[in-house]
Amino acid sequence: MPRSIAGRTAQRLAELQDHDLLIVRTAANATAARGSATRSAESALPELQDVRAKLLSEIPEPWRAQYERITARYGRAVVPVRDQTCLGCYARVPAGLMPHAHDMPAITRCEGCGRLLLWVPSTPSRPDRTR
Ligand SMILES: [Zn+2]
Repeated sequence: MPRSIAGRTAQRLAELQDHDLLIVRTAANATAARGSATRSAESALPELQDVRAKLLSEIPEPWRAQYERITARYGRAVVPVRDQTCLGCYARVPAGLMPHAHDMPAITRCEGCGRLLLWVPSTPSRPDRTR
């Protein structure tokens, strides 16, 4: 498989993971609300699944299959990189695997755990105080 992918697909993979976490939370809420009058969470699920299908359709293979496989294994397939370190397994990512800044956002695979590493352009000044 290709070692990395940049731009729209990288963005879509990150969005898909956010969306999957939303689905998990909504499903949990629906379960909690079962039997009560509040079933809005349950009725939202089909719509969320539609959005998921659309996001998936915008992600080409083999990344789509990779995402599904790694999510099944770890729960979270896409993890951020910080200081060239995978925040999934804390393995150091070789400098040679770091995408060029103009290719970001990009996704590469961690050699340690196989998760999908999300690279975003770093903000050199005070990166921890931007959010
Ligand atoms: Zn890793």
